[in-house]
Amino acid sequence: MNPTSQYEFTIVVPVYNEEDNVERLEKELSAFLPTSLKRACVLFVNDGSRDRSLDLLREVCKRHSDFFYVSLAQNSGLSAAMKAGIDTAQSPLVGYIDADLQTSPEDFNLLLPYAADYELVMGIRANRKDSFFKNLQSKIANGFRRSMTGDTAKDTGCPLKVMHTDVARRLPFFTGMHRFLPALMLLEKGRMMQIPVRHFPRMAGVSKYHLWNRLVSPFMDCFAYRWMKKRYIRYQVGEHNFAETEV
Ligand code: UDP
Ligand code: MG
Repeated sequence: MNPTSQYEFTIVVPVYNEEDNVERLEKELSAFLPTSLKRACVLFVNDGSRDRSLDLLREVCKRHSDFFYVSLAQNSGLSAAMKAGIDTAQSPLVGYIDADLQTSPEDFNLLLPYAADYELVMGIRANRKDSFFKNLQSKIANGFRRSMTGDTAKDTGCPLKVMHTDVARRLPFFTGMHRFLPALMLLEKGRMMQIPVRHFPRMAGVSKYHLWNRLVSPFMDCFAYRWMKKRYIRYQVGEHNFAETEV
């Protein structure tokens, strides 16, 4: 039990060496919370930052009663940070946004209306403000992944997503899975809705990903996904004689 259980929606923000973004995060997230369509809190996941991020997050969380953080003992990668956030969130809905704010928390309100009917609601970055090279990598990776997994996600890497927490918890997690959320949702028969959202350039800090981990690892992960899809275990209990209704 943790304070996020008091909310309808927990916004997970993975933070790795983002000291120059924390002030903006505080400003934009605290402005968004009172306007959120679902009663929301913020959960920073500090992923073993080696700069001043954690110190700053501690201060920010002192200033706002709806802001919380967990801090991983070591840098464990974005997928691990995302899993830590999903495992920690106790609200029925869990959201995800990157610490560099290349998407705006305001646009959660474009996604939230669909959350009742869709287990995954995700953004599509309209007019992406990344370099030509990064956009090209992303196009190739998205096309290949779609053909391998059969997911219909136009922009799997979009850092603005809303998920049902219970379903998100059941997804198989592995390093790199943050790019496979729509495909993994398919394994759980989750429904997906995609909505265009605004996209901005990275204003501060540096990108942690490069050609190898943006293109080559996801390429190999596609084969792992196909294996997993074949072997994935899903079952429904038809009957039981327990006293409680829950199994
Ligand atoms: N991140 C993380 N752990 C890592 C690498 C990145 O938590 O080991 C976070 C990072 O702070 C940011 C998000 O993951 O909030 C996405 O990273 P980044 O913006 O560098 O990736 P890009 O948008 O360039 O693909
Ligand atoms: Mg980014």
